[in-house]
Amino acid sequence: MLPQVIIIGRPNVGKSTLFNRLVGKKLALVDDQPGVTRDRRFGEAHLLGLDFTIVDTAGWEDEDAASLPGRMRQQTEASLKGADVALFVIDARAGITPLDEEIARYLRTSTVPIVLLANKAEGRSGDPGIYEAFSLGFGEPVALSAEHGQGMADLFEALLPHLDDKQAEHEAEVEASQEEEDYDPQAILKLAIVGRPNAGKSTLINALLREDRLLTGPEAGITRDSIAVDWTWTDPKTKAERPVRLIDTAGMRKKAQVVDKLEKLSVADARHAIDFAEVVVLLLDATRGLEHQDLKIASLVLEEGRALIIAINKWDVAEDASGLFNGVRAALDEGLAQVRGVPLLSVSARTGKGLDTMIQAAFDIRDAWSKRVPTAALNRWFDDALAANPPPAPGGRRIKLRYITQAKTRPPGFVLFGTRLDMLPESYRRYLVNGIRRELGFEAVPIRLTLRSPK
Ligand code: GDP
Ligand code: GDP
Repeated sequence: MLPQVIIIGRPNVGKSTLFNRLVGKKLALVDDQPGVTRDRRFGEAHLLGLDFTIVDTAGWEDEDAASLPGRMRQQTEASLKGADVALFVIDARAGITPLDEEIARYLRTSTVPIVLLANKAEGRSGDPGIYEAFSLGFGEPVALSAEHGQGMADLFEALLPHLDDKQAEHEAEVEASQEEEDYDPQAILKLAIVGRPNAGKSTLINALLREDRLLTGPEAGITRDSIAVDWTWTDPKTKAERPVRLIDTAGMRKKAQVVDKLEKLSVADARHAIDFAEVVVLLLDATRGLEHQDLKIASLVLEEGRALIIAINKWDVAEDASGLFNGVRAALDEGLAQVRGVPLLSVSARTGKGLDTMIQAAFDIRDAWSKRVPTAALNRWFDDALAANPPPAPGGRRIKLRYITQAKTRPPGFVLFGTRLDMLPESYRRYLVNGIRRELGFEAVPIRLTLRSPK
């Protein structure tokens, strides 16, 4: 059940226009169930990140003036019963009329929270009405123009505190149902192993497969140069069996090639593998450390929005192991500004050391990469982040950041709404992205943040 928001107001203030704007399509004026919903229309509303049921108490036009207040009151009271919030709409151009005052009187006795909307306020044409509206006793009205779609972010802000918990509940339900549809943590893990020639990719894959090898060969959509191998990994801790598709672009053909050509090929290989993978393991060679080309491949993986793990192979022959590990960690943090704390592991394809840890890490990072944070929780974090470090005010005019929503997963994509966003410094954007990562469990996952100014 979505939270329910009811629109109340005298005729002609723009209730239907607001309803249509929130529902997003022009509904026929006549309902398909005459008699049942004649005096109320229901629609599914989408307002930026919020979803709710919107109820329009329209249809007063036929009433004669004398009986109108009584009829309106009756119907409004009935509609208010199931509502979580009421939007009380006035016409900012016309100012407050006796009928508005009448409605306000009985709304004040209702336990449903009221948000006062001063409609038809495009431009500043509604200013006088907005000031008058204070007298209704519902505080500062939200100025908007239903017809022109202005003030929608303010409406969102006014609604959010009332719908927060309801919305969170609803999203939890949707999330639960989506999880089955969109992301099944038990689904086959698509894992690619990439790296420079001789990093040990083929050896690693053979070590993983051991004798349970099932070669599926080139499949539709998978390039001729890469092979996909479906295989079952047994978690040594829980004994759970988990399916993995290994996407191998390794050197079936490399023996025949010359070295400098190979250097180019490994980037091209990585590109192909990335297309088919959810998680990419970049294999380094402990005897060579982190080289420029490795960083190039790592950046490519992140730019393509895939989850990345870095494994230093040939750990069995590593010299000064801890020095090497720390050196690679530092070089990654400096060279991969997009993501902090990419998982860094040490493995040996030869001895099998660290391979289970690596596969477990791949499942874990796929979970984070597929995760969705409910809008309400996201905005609670957002409010705290803004309070702790308010956005700057270039030229004395503050950039207004209003709210944030997670628009997609795999990789996680967030949309930030506000005004003057073109002035937002890169450092502030980084502050937010790092906060999302650290505090909402997206550590080491590539994140996209899009800025959008609502009209
Ligand atoms: P309702 O009777 O409250 O449902 O009102 P309607 O939605 O039918 O709107 C009444 C009239 O006001 C229509 O002519 C609309 O086009 C107009 N209207 C609605 N919203 C706005 C607005 O934001 N600005 C202006 N200027 N006119 C509006
Ligand atoms: P690819 O080009 O990335 O597929 O690399 P290969 O799997 O062909 O390995 C290149 C060389 O590194 C081979 O001689 C392997 O035996 C060796 N190698 C691979 N993994 C390890 C390891 O974990 N330890 C050691 N000491 N050598 C390894």
